[in-house]
Amino acid sequence: MNKHIRMKKRIVLTLLIIICLCPSEAFSQAGMDPDELLSSGWIIIEAEHCTIMLHPNVNVNKVYRNTKIRFWDILIEKDYHASKEHAIFESIMENFDRTFQKVEKILDMYPRNMNVKVAIYPNQLLLDGKHYEIFGEENTSDREDAYYVHNHTTIYATQNSISQEVLAHEMGHAIVDHYFLIPPPEKVKELLCQYVELHLAD
Ligand SMILES: [Zn+2]
Repeated sequence: MNKHIRMKKRIVLTLLIIICLCPSEAFSQAGMDPDELLSSGWIIIEAEHCTIMLHPNVNVNKVYRNTKIRFWDILIEKDYHASKEHAIFESIMENFDRTFQKVEKILDMYPRNMNVKVAIYPNQLLLDGKHYEIFGEENTSDREDAYYVHNHTTIYATQNSISQEVLAHEMGHAIVDHYFLIPPPEKVKELLCQYVELHLAD
């Protein structure tokens, strides 16, 4: 074993010890720090129920088009007026907030003081990279193009995957996770989120 390899081994061991000593710390650091994001050119949109974080290479118009509201709901509509005159960021904000409110209504769950973050990447490669950064492994779950991470209260998606249905499904995960003191089993959570998708147009 030469000196270089020994050195490398020691660094790896030290890193392992740090991660083992403070797993939650190591995990939370992989989240999104707004100041850091802003300085790297990300766009952050603070909506009422969500914080939308757009990677610098994201096509803003595409995000707006993909998340455009296709349902109509009298209880939600009355809060929003003249959306056509809104600037693009306000329109995105409106899409996300209204979807959030609709999901709360479908589930009949209104967790207090909840603000869900949504990080949007321009492509799958960067999204996969983020998954690896958070979990240290590839994403092998059913849905690879969008996922919710409870410890970060963040939905991660790409500009192509973030449809109204996907957004509603993942917001469902966030709301369910914040509503119950003891979270229901994964299968039950998944059923609830599929229920949300099914009833979005009701
Ligand atoms: Zn799901």
